[in-house]
Amino acid sequence: MESGAFVSVKHESKTTSTITIKGILSLLMASVNESNDANNRVISLGMGDPTIYTCFRTTTVADEAVADKIYSHKFNGYAPTAGLLQARNAIAEYLSCDLPYQLSSDDVFITCGCTQAIDVSIAMLAYPGANILLPRPGFPIYELSAAFRHVEVRHYDLLPEKGWEVDLDAIEALADQNTVALVIINPGNPCGNVYSYNHLEKIAEIAGRLGTIVIADEVYGHLAFGDKPFVPMGVFGSIVPVLTLGSLSKRWLVPGWRLGWFVINDPCGTYKKPKVVERIKKYFDLLGGPATFIQAAVPRIISQTGEVFFQKTIDNLKHTLEICCKEIEDIPCIFCPYKPEGSMAMMVKLNLSLLEDISDDIDFCFKLAKEESVILLPGTAVGLKDWLRITFAADSSAVREGMGRIKSFYQRHARKNSKQ
Ligand SMILES: *Cc1c(COP(=O)(O)O)cnc(C)c1O
Repeated sequence: MESGAFVSVKHESKTTSTITIKGILSLLMASVNESNDANNRVISLGMGDPTIYTCFRTTTVADEAVADKIYSHKFNGYAPTAGLLQARNAIAEYLSCDLPYQLSSDDVFITCGCTQAIDVSIAMLAYPGANILLPRPGFPIYELSAAFRHVEVRHYDLLPEKGWEVDLDAIEALADQNTVALVIINPGNPCGNVYSYNHLEKIAEIAGRLGTIVIADEVYGHLAFGDKPFVPMGVFGSIVPVLTLGSLSKRWLVPGWRLGWFVINDPCGTYKKPKVVERIKKYFDLLGGPATFIQAAVPRIISQTGEVFFQKTIDNLKHTLEICCKEIEDIPCIFCPYKPEGSMAMMVKLNLSLLEDISDDIDFCFKLAKEESVILLPGTAVGLKDWLRITFAADSSAVREGMGRIKSFYQRHARKNSKQ
């Protein structure tokens, strides 16, 4: 018989043992050797926050929209907890453009970034005994939120040889009557995958058949630059209810503004029962939401941002991705099985047999930080040991310099008889 105190200690250790990307990156930063050459500026290809680079600056439309709302003095008060009506409307309009049905403001709830939308979805679905299907590799905030809500995590694999598609057979095998959701991230972090219409349809059909719902993390929505266009999961909302999570953070390059959304795509009303909506509304009373003046700026940010701004971001990402892929070919110990078609990150596999004194991905990243002041994320942090996540949302000189240093690092640590 477990005592209450024991149960709470056990749960606590589960939440504190979950690795977060921010946690591991700050350890890596701390291990950068201060005595390195002063010219050896730290190059971070570890984290998806490109705002330190001037080429990834947001549009003046967004700056002006926010400034106007501040100076109007009309938005210093509380917003309704589900979000300002005009912002919910604007997001409903924005998402409906790509859907075969129309969303209404009632389907949209404003959150503090996509991070809070993740936590809201898991909190709303949790009950004792519930489980959730998460991708591996994935985005560790899901594991962390599930641990806090005592929701059991079951991982399904993404298949590198199939462009990081979902292992559909695994889904069937993992799910049971207590599976509350299947999470997909598209365009993908950490893999840069973009799923085809057909693949998304298959996911919807399987989830529908299993009687669960889909949580579609589309925080990188529209950041697709390969052959496949971005298709929102909500397109299949009549096959399976979809919770669409997103934010301004990535497409508008303002992760610090903390403006996100949690959207119910459920034209058949399978999930969106009045009681469920009532409960979600109550829960938002707890959260408070992002700053009112940012919410007030959303309609203008969404309606007036021009194609030129979006295209510039895409062009920058395409360019830095090309540099990465070209440099990777010159670094024998890392291999990229799939060239990203979207988002800002890619996964590469480490070949440890070509390295003399590196024990695993974590060891690689710590030694690289110390010796070369280059930060990469060890794959272990996203669920894949002995892989690395490279973020290519940096300016081209940083990417080139960073990859060059990884190459010197390889040459210094290459196993002598296999040096190329
Ligand atoms: C960045 C990111 C988030 C968090 O987005 P915010 O709006 O900054 O909270 C969520 N999911 C994925 C996959 C991300 O890459």
